[in-house]
Amino acid sequence: MAPGSEDDMNALRVLVADKQAAVDRQSNEVRALKAAKADEVAVNKAVNLLKDLKLELQSISKELVSKATGGETSVLSRETFRKTLSNTLERRLFYIPSFKIYGGVAGLYDYGPPGCAIKANVLAIWRQHFVLEENMLEVDCPCVTPEMVLKASGHVEKFTDLMVKDEKTGACYRADHLLKDFVKESLEKDPLMPPDKKEELKHVLAMLDEFTAEQLGAKLKKYGIKSPETKNSLSDPYPFNLMFSTSIGPTGLLQGYLRPETAQGIFVNFRDLYYYNGSKLPFAAAQIGQAFRNEIAPRQGLLRVREFTLAEIEHFVNPDDKSHPKFSTVANLEFYLYPREEQMTLKQPVKTQIGHAVAKGIVNNETLGYFIARTYLFLARLGIDKERLRFRQHLQNEMAHYAADCWDAEIECSYGWIECVGLADRSAYDLKAHTDMSKTDLVAHETFSEPKDVAQLLVVPNKKELGMFFKKSAKMVQEALEVMEEVEALKMKAELESEGMASLHLCTTGQRVTITREMVSISKEIETLHGRTFTPSVIEPSFGVGRIIYCLFEHCFYTRSSNAGDDQLNVFRFPASVAPIKCTVFPLVQNVKLEVTAKEISSALTREGVANKIDITGTSIGKRYARTDEIGVPFAITVDFDEKTVTVRERDTKAQIRVPVEEVAKVVNDVADARRTWIEVQSHYPGVMSKDSNQ
Ligand code: AMP
Repeated sequence: MAPGSEDDMNALRVLVADKQAAVDRQSNEVRALKAAKADEVAVNKAVNLLKDLKLELQSISKELVSKATGGETSVLSRETFRKTLSNTLERRLFYIPSFKIYGGVAGLYDYGPPGCAIKANVLAIWRQHFVLEENMLEVDCPCVTPEMVLKASGHVEKFTDLMVKDEKTGACYRADHLLKDFVKESLEKDPLMPPDKKEELKHVLAMLDEFTAEQLGAKLKKYGIKSPETKNSLSDPYPFNLMFSTSIGPTGLLQGYLRPETAQGIFVNFRDLYYYNGSKLPFAAAQIGQAFRNEIAPRQGLLRVREFTLAEIEHFVNPDDKSHPKFSTVANLEFYLYPREEQMTLKQPVKTQIGHAVAKGIVNNETLGYFIARTYLFLARLGIDKERLRFRQHLQNEMAHYAADCWDAEIECSYGWIECVGLADRSAYDLKAHTDMSKTDLVAHETFSEPKDVAQLLVVPNKKELGMFFKKSAKMVQEALEVMEEVEALKMKAELESEGMASLHLCTTGQRVTITREMVSISKEIETLHGRTFTPSVIEPSFGVGRIIYCLFEHCFYTRSSNAGDDQLNVFRFPASVAPIKCTVFPLVQNVKLEVTAKEISSALTREGVANKIDITGTSIGKRYARTDEIGVPFAITVDFDEKTVTVRERDTKAQIRVPVEEVAKVVNDVADARRTWIEVQSHYPGVMSKDSNQ
């Protein structure tokens, strides 16, 4: 829900003030009646009126708080939901705090068995959806990266967050997080604050990413923000580089870092991948792997961690032609877009056709639009709720100066809207940066469909003349002439024509030398070109796999009453493709014959490639269903004394059908692999009425 308009809120503020005045008046009246020992009926009447007024005041104040905070009044229920979910996730070993028996380390988590299976399934779907369906070139590069590479990419200098330290205990905090917490808390605690104060705080929130260290420091001082735990004073903010540093080899002389993203591995391989692709553009390379960021104060559980899996795509494209051959296949898709303009005017995201957004220039180009749409399809395929998914465009000041356009896929969960995928048109920045640092041309060649006549500047040094005059330095002068920019060369040409000589600056020595007309010929000639060499632009979708999985946990989790109504049961409604196990097999009771059949069915499922688990404990069938619902297993097969057929139960509807033993593995595999729907299968086989409480 959006925060209310300022007019609505002002009207509510007036109502609250009026009602408060009425409450005060009535309180005085009650006090006066009591002091005057008035008769009981009159006092009770006045007290009842006071109670009514107080209730009305409470209700209007609540509405005001709700409008001021965008409807976020149900913080408690959100917390309860998150607690129930995280208890389930930890109890069922979806994840485990890493090194738990040693007290754990903030920001490091292990995936346990169901978590691992879900991650493997999510990555398999990602590979299918992107690498296979889009013919991408997959690579797998090391996590340990030499400093040079990350110097070129700008990470050594700029991959920092601003940090403050508790001056007494040395505890570290992210300066922007402390300011953000303070502002949010102030806005929530005091929705009735004067509008100008509120505007100021909202402005601070909007500018958080923009503040320099000095500006952030000034804000922390202005609002008297102290160390959260001890209330001690804080240091001034200073940049902290988020990369884990290491050294490569035994000498310790080769500085390295654990990669903060996988993208650089692709950029440095561009030349080989381009040849591998037949020297043709566009093409995309992809990489799945670990990334490391030494977050200052990790919080929000699995959402901000220090080691996580990224799945990244670098799509290389001609900067003059960012059309996409398959764009028409997604152009009609409609989903929530939150363009810059709407954010600035505090409007809400609207469902928009991606074709429309590209045609109107809201999304910069077809290729970026295509990947936004494919990302939408991917997330929906995993089971992310489409109503809680939006693509938010970066504000102008949020984008790197070289970027043409950036959008984040944000998913709403109990922590708010979380950036899970970044989609950026990064222009030619990365390839140019590595070309400069490595002195290797990371370029592509384009052959024109028809030759083009273009005016070309020709600078031809006269080696003999330069040799006679400059002797040992002749080569250096020759090179300086050859690398002149066009403006500089034309200026020299004009000077040589008018004065007969011109001055040339030698970058290598810093000297100036005099060039005469005989030493160089500078001309502009029409040349027929058959092609050109250029640095490709790159469009980068970058998927934070852990964040997507966490949001999926939230979107798939629900509780329902047991049939007897005496218990709340947890369920994950994962799509079968994501579920950690697709099917469980239960003998109805502990019995050798039933176990033999169950084992045969389990083997048949395994042969079909269906991940399954057999449970031969004597627990009631309802309890066994509840146990597997809690890890999101979509199908369960129960073997009873009927030798020919078994029961198949579907998790969410709890509907059951009878299927012949020899067909059951194939039926479950078909439904789990989406070759048939459950509804289809249900209409094919006889249904069963359940007796147990959770059947
Ligand atoms: P970035 O390169 O910062 O745009 O990050 C790419 C993606 O990585 C983001 O969209 C997030 O999904 C994910 N990500 C970034 N930082 C973290 C973190 N500390 N923990 C988990 N995921 C992260």
